[in-house]
Amino acid sequence: MNKFHKRIFKRNDNRELLIYSRTEHTEKHTQELDITLPSLPHLRWNPSRQEWVTYSPGRENRTFFPPKKYCPFCPGGDLNFPTEIPFSGFEVAVFPNRWSSFNTHNKNIDISGIKTKPSNGHSEIIVYSDVHNDTIAEMSLDRIQLLVETWNDRYTELLSRDDIAYVLPFENRGEECGVTLHHPHGQIYCYPFIPPVVEKEIIAFRKENFILSMMESLEKKYFVYQDDDIIAAVPPFARYAYEVWIMPKKRVAGPWQFNDQQIKSFSACFQKVIKGYDSFLNKKCPYIMGLHAASKLDDKSFHFHVEFYPPLRLGDKPKILAGSESMGGVFIMDVLPEETALMLREHMNT
Ligand SMILES: [Zn+2]
Repeated sequence: MNKFHKRIFKRNDNRELLIYSRTEHTEKHTQELDITLPSLPHLRWNPSRQEWVTYSPGRENRTFFPPKKYCPFCPGGDLNFPTEIPFSGFEVAVFPNRWSSFNTHNKNIDISGIKTKPSNGHSEIIVYSDVHNDTIAEMSLDRIQLLVETWNDRYTELLSRDDIAYVLPFENRGEECGVTLHHPHGQIYCYPFIPPVVEKEIIAFRKENFILSMMESLEKKYFVYQDDDIIAAVPPFARYAYEVWIMPKKRVAGPWQFNDQQIKSFSACFQKVIKGYDSFLNKKCPYIMGLHAASKLDDKSFHFHVEFYPPLRLGDKPKILAGSESMGGVFIMDVLPEETALMLREHMNT
């Protein structure tokens, strides 16, 4: 496999913009954005749910610059205003989120009767392409492989930091998921604790590798796409009508343990799923996608997988997390996973 290059560009705020590429990136930089103050988020303990909630009050007042009609993730070099990436072109770019909900600053606030702590950690934006209208569905396979290699480089670096307990790369796609910036990008949240959903998964995998134990039924009935290394399936216990999981057939703790062939299979599958969703809905399908990997690089029980949740009920009717889901945590489904697997399979295998 082609090796990637990584350029570390020191920004004017002393933080790093990382450019990942197949062709070495040596371009001279143009005008940078103005320096912004780092965010000072904090955590408050919700004693009812036994969960942390993060507060980042500055986020609501964040200035949008460049002007709102321009995209801050487009390459800035050829434009008349600076953007996050002060070059004329790039392949994949990663930089710290200026209004991060997790940022190591060690400053706490005091509220009587409530447990609080600094919202330490980190968060990054990962831009998949320098083309504003690009989509993973249409990208070259090699670009998706570079994206996977970028995630792996981030995992390796970030999971070895003392102030980070868990690394979650995810993507929100579509206005239905609250996205206002349409340039193809995702985020990487680095939490100072293990998030509750992941904590449950870690405990479940320690008891039993439930992905491996249901593999046969996944391959027979629930798959939407597969090859020798990877399977994409609607899990038999899906909570969203078109929920899809991508799972390596052999357990790995995270994508950093993939060999070259597995990266290739995973990338092809990733694209098939997104392309299939778009073809099924006949438009850019909205989804929330997240990489579920272990919290430690050498974990021995976690089975890495990717989860996609299109926020839909049936057809393109929106799924609202209403009374039962929000108040009771019990999902109500109108359609069976074995039926949606059939519908999606048709579109994810072309
Ligand atoms: Zn753009």
